[in-house]
Amino acid sequence: MRIETPDFAKHYPNMTKAIDLSNRLLQGDGGFFGKIREIKAFDYSKNSANHQPVSGAEVAALFAKKIDVSVQTYKPWYIWSKAIAATTPGERVIRLNLYKLDRSTEETAATFIHECVHILDTEKNLSFGHGNNYARGKERSAPYQIEKIAQDTISRMKWA
Ligand SMILES: [Zn+2]
Repeated sequence: MRIETPDFAKHYPNMTKAIDLSNRLLQGDGGFFGKIREIKAFDYSKNSANHQPVSGAEVAALFAKKIDVSVQTYKPWYIWSKAIAATTPGERVIRLNLYKLDRSTEETAATFIHECVHILDTEKNLSFGHGNNYARGKERSAPYQIEKIAQDTISRMKWA
């Protein structure tokens, strides 16, 4: 899995760096996949083949897929919308809220990883989202838990 750098990134200094950093994680830098594999079971997940929750090992394996992800922006209807990013099931596009582009490199990279987990959540037998969009109580879902691993991995990496 790999994120392509969009043209508009050149207007946002953190954006290109965040994409490079995300792509390093997506290649397993900093022991990223090892940390994901340690997770036994995600909340809000289900493997419908064996009726078990989805494990970190199952999701970690999906990151190896050859998927090119593109990045676009969107203008929210509500200017104070708290949403930062979105994906659409079945599409390989991360959409960033136009009013939330000036976040730090680290935060932006962690958001990209969160959205990448949603993009991987298309396997027929596996489901590992986080239900509705309220973050509260979702810490142990795959998108939020892997986002947290991304943050921890980045903070330990020398990437400047
Ligand atoms: Zn999400």
